[in-house]
Amino acid sequence: MVRTYRFRLSAYTIALLMFLMLTLGYTYEYSRGVILEEAENNITSTAQVLNSNLELEENELLHYAEIVRDDLRIKEYMFMTAKVGTDNEALVALLDRQFGWLPVERQIVIANNGRVLVGKEHTDLAEHVRQHQANAKAGVFYFQGRKGLEMVAWAGVEYEGISLGAIALTHLLNGAWLEQLRQTSGGYIFIEDNGAIQLSTLASSIGSEFVPKPNGRVIVADETYRIRRLMLSGPQKHAPRIWFGASEKELLMKLERHSRLVLLFTIAGCLAILWVGLAIIRNFNKPLTQLMHMTRKVASGELPRMKKSVPRNEIDMLYNQFAEMLQALREKQQEIEIAHKELEQTAITDSLTRLYNRRHLQEVFPRVLSQAHRESLHLAGILLDIDHFKQINDQFGHLGGDQCLIQFSRILRDTCRANDYIFRIGGEEFLILSIHDNQQGGQQLAEKIRDIIETHPASLNDTVIPMTTSAGVSHADFSLSAHEALSHLLMHADKALYAAKISGRNQVVAHTEDKSLSPFTANAVS
Ligand code: GH3
Ligand code: MG
Ligand code: MG
Repeated sequence: MVRTYRFRLSAYTIALLMFLMLTLGYTYEYSRGVILEEAENNITSTAQVLNSNLELEENELLHYAEIVRDDLRIKEYMFMTAKVGTDNEALVALLDRQFGWLPVERQIVIANNGRVLVGKEHTDLAEHVRQHQANAKAGVFYFQGRKGLEMVAWAGVEYEGISLGAIALTHLLNGAWLEQLRQTSGGYIFIEDNGAIQLSTLASSIGSEFVPKPNGRVIVADETYRIRRLMLSGPQKHAPRIWFGASEKELLMKLERHSRLVLLFTIAGCLAILWVGLAIIRNFNKPLTQLMHMTRKVASGELPRMKKSVPRNEIDMLYNQFAEMLQALREKQQEIEIAHKELEQTAITDSLTRLYNRRHLQEVFPRVLSQAHRESLHLAGILLDIDHFKQINDQFGHLGGDQCLIQFSRILRDTCRANDYIFRIGGEEFLILSIHDNQQGGQQLAEKIRDIIETHPASLNDTVIPMTTSAGVSHADFSLSAHEALSHLLMHADKALYAAKISGRNQVVAHTEDKSLSPFTANAVS
């Protein structure tokens, strides 16, 4: 099976295209995985950062609580209020004076018996602090207050080895706080309580359902978020939870940008390969195909012309050389044709007089006969013989005789029409085939020739060689076959010529049907 270069090149191009597409497809899948993994890592590390920020805040708040707790005057005032039973006004004033500047939401002081010494209105907070007091001396916890989620730092107060109660400070996790926390991340922060969003940096999501799935995702307002829970101090079970989430849609948009870039590279790569493939097919395969086409023509006997081009590569050079070879072959063929024509001409002409020979008469006669018959004309055969040629040869030599033959032929050529055929059919015997529209045309032509021959002698080395000619004229019989018509024509012309000879030569005799041969010219000897 023939595998053409076009086929191979096409196959290679397709293979390359497929390879490129596979490579880019794999690259796309791989980078997609990398991007998603990177995003996951990013979410986790962001959540960690947020966790540590939160922890810092918790520690800060706890630190404030401890500062307040460790203040000796606060302890003394608290002792007075809680144990001695004095009014709490002094404690309230002291706390306000000493620690009113603290950036906290609420401050309370409670006694061990549950009495609220400072911040009587914050009973909800006092209740929660009391619950934690039973298990530890200080700590941080969260609870859902009236204004929202609050971070609470509390510390138990002791004075002179006596436990007095606790001080608690709170920090409200409101929208501004969430926004501040969010600024370090690229996602959203949700505060969820009992499966609903209490507060979020995504304002539109507040109040929406929030049910995390085991795969670390949650759907909020029809959009999927990859989430991580931020770890809060204190018991987690019932407290509201804080989540960090990154929108999958935004992630996928990044991916889409990436995939668009990959697609762009793929298309550019495919186009480049196609372009290279086509260029190779064009520059390499096209001239080869043309060459094949040409060689097929040469094999079938043609020698087509090929236009040479500016050679840019080996194929072009081969193409040009082939064109040159064809040109050389064409020239050779022309030479052969000319030689062949000359050979043909030589075969049908007489070398001395350049007139057609007897052989050509056989070939040409059928054509002339049918032409005359077709046009309803007369075909005359004029047989001419130089009188006493032997004597001329004897008197002027063979060269003189040849000059007579040459002069005789020249006169025949000059006198006859272009469509007459003149043959030298013997030594000094000539035949003219001439078509006329009447019976007398042939005889008139013969007489004209006879007259010119008589008046235009030949010459050899300034010696004039006079000559005369006798002629017999006959007409072709169209009812006969070409072969028979020719032999009849020659026979009748010969008879008439004979009659002219015996009648004294230098005259024209026409063959007649009644066999009575009559001299045509005034010179005829009866
Ligand atoms: P007639 O008037 O009866 O025709 O007499 P003739 O002498 O012409 O008789 P014939 O036809 O017998 O003579 C022809 C001569 O022509 C014989 C031959 O030697 C001579 N001859 C034939 N061919 C050539 C030729 O090519 N050159 C020359 N110089 N002579 C030739
Ligand atoms: Mg003769
Ligand atoms: Mg003769």
